[in-house]
Parts: sequence; C-alpha cells; structure tokens
Amino acid sequence: MKIIMLGAPGAGKGTQAKMIADKYSIPHISTGDIFRANIKNGTELGKKAKTYMDQGLLVPDELTVDLVIDRVSQDDCKNGYVLDGFPRTIPQAESLDAALTKLGEKIDFAVNVEVPDENIINRMSGRRACLSCGATYHIVHIPTKVEGICDRCNAELVLRDDDKPETVKKRLDVYHEQTQPLIDYYSGKGVMVEVDGTQDMKDVFADIVKILGA
Ligand SMILES: [Zn+2]
Repeated sequence: MKIIMLGAPGAGKGTQAKMIADKYSIPHISTGDIFRANIKNGTELGKKAKTYMDQGLLVPDELTVDLVIDRVSQDDCKNGYVLDGFPRTIPQAESLDAALTKLGEKIDFAVNVEVPDENIINRMSGRRACLSCGATYHIVHIPTKVEGICDRCNAELVLRDDDKPETVKKRLDVYHEQTQPLIDYYSGKGVMVEVDGTQDMKDVFADIVKILGA
C-alpha cells in the first residue's frame, strides 16, 4: 500500500503517518530522513544534496525526486510505504508518478488530514515554552501547576514567535497555496481521501484505517 500524507503544519499528519506505518508494517518516509541518511552514508545523491544544504539552499526538485525514488525502490518498501512531506509541488508529484509507472507501480491513497485553519491557530496559540529548560506545555492539553510558570524549573513561560497566530496564519496561507493543486491532482487520479483531523488522534486514525482497510 503506497500512501501520501497531506495536511497542514499542526494538523497531526506526522503522528498519523507513524501510526499507519506501525499498523501496516510499512516504512514511514520523510524527505528529511532521506536527506540525513544519504548524507550520513556519503552516497552520491547525499553529497549532491549536501552542497545545496550547506549553502542554505533548497534541494532542487529533480534531486529530491531522485532521492525519494531511490528510497522507495529499496527492499523494505516492497509492500508499500507512507510518504510524509513529499510531494510538495505538482512537478514533484508528476515526477514521482512517472518514476512509479516505470516500476509498474502507483500511489494507492493520498490521505488529507483536514483541520480548519482556525483550529490550528487556536491549538498553536495555546502552546507555552520554557526558554530556560526547554519544556513545552499547552494551556489546555498540558497545563502547568501554576499558570505561566514552568513545572520543572519555575521560569516564566512564553508563547514562541513561531506559535503566534499571525505567524501560524502566514505558514498556513503558504501551505494552502502549495497544497490545493496537489489535492486537485490526486483527486483527478481518484486516490484522494479526506479525514476529519479535528477529532481525537485515535478517532482520526480509526477513520484512516476504515479507508485503507484492515
Ligand atoms: Zn523550565
């Protein structure tokens, strides 16, 4: 079973991808992990990727696709995989499809973990961080004993810039701009499915399993 995960930052897509990988005993593949593994192992593709990353540049589409294809051609992917964070663009999706077609394969499901922007903005704005010991909290889900004070070290907690509503909103705008074409693309291929990501993590997963089959 070959699966692509879509979902906004903060929608819980990575968690669901891991749960799918566990249940179906297939690898959870993220581009970040592939880059790191190839660089660590000093592969040709890894060396190329590193030259871009060292300069603070994005790894070009073509090279990213080569790395992903190389990864999904490995033995442990015979029964399928969950791709997390790839493809991000239509050219990436098309290159992936072209490469899979050559192998006589195709993507079975593109799973979109759908959470309205407002929910994500609310979730994120409830986060609190301790800059002194690194502990993280959430005013609703992981509250501290004393409001605004770190349980571990008694330092004052802050709302990080990354979690502020205006920052999250900007990130979500970029996400939607990039992802809507992918949703249309995979809908056109008849593999797009959507789950309600506002539910409890376990219920989201149960919905996914219903779609993928036991
Ligand atoms: Zn602390």
